[in-house]
Amino acid sequence: MSDHEEMPPVRPTKAQRTAKARLVKELGEADFALPGSLVVESQRCGKPSCACHHDPPKLHGPYARWTRKVDNKTVTRLLTPEEVAEYRPLFESAKRLRRLLADLQQLTMEIVDAPSSPPPRRRSRADRV
Ligand SMILES: [Zn+2]
Repeated sequence: MSDHEEMPPVRPTKAQRTAKARLVKELGEADFALPGSLVVESQRCGKPSCACHHDPPKLHGPYARWTRKVDNKTVTRLLTPEEVAEYRPLFESAKRLRRLLADLQQLTMEIVDAPSSPPPRRRSRADRV
């Protein structure tokens, strides 16, 4: 006999199938997508005499920074306003895809965790706390 825990079969209800079809349709309409995040902000520099340290401050920027992970390292690239205008939809597309995938995974978890189908098996070992 196998030692690992048996996974219940994936038996979605009609509503769950409908929800899945909707998510898959949206995923199918996905556009190109850029990884990482885009942050646009104004900054202070290191020179205490600079106008960015005056009151009120005249900050530098705004600068658009695109950061992403490459081989576990954070890579940053400054984007021009033109690039921001062009790329922003691609960051939003990636965000949308992550949300859709998270929804699909959540839905699948609910199906797999569903206690009604099949009738729950008795675990051989005592319930863990
Ligand atoms: Zn400054």
